[in-house]
Amino acid sequence: MRKCSHAKMDVKFDLEKIKSPHRATQVLKVQVICRTCGEKIRWLGLPAAFVPDAPHPGSDNTSVYLPAFWLDE
Ligand SMILES: [Zn+2]
Repeated sequence: MRKCSHAKMDVKFDLEKIKSPHRATQVLKVQVICRTCGEKIRWLGLPAAFVPDAPHPGSDNTSVYLPAFWLDE
């Protein structure tokens, strides 16, 4: 049984511009962190292999990276 109910959390977004031979020109990094205990949520269902233009997890599954581009780029 876990000690914390993880009732309140912070969502962190970081949008970074990237240089890539692929279509993505930026990537959004998302993390969800429990405000009480600091535990980070683990993401499910992302491909295990790194694909530059597809959503992918960080090395420990506590962050997700969402590649994106502007339509007029
Ligand atoms: Zn917690």
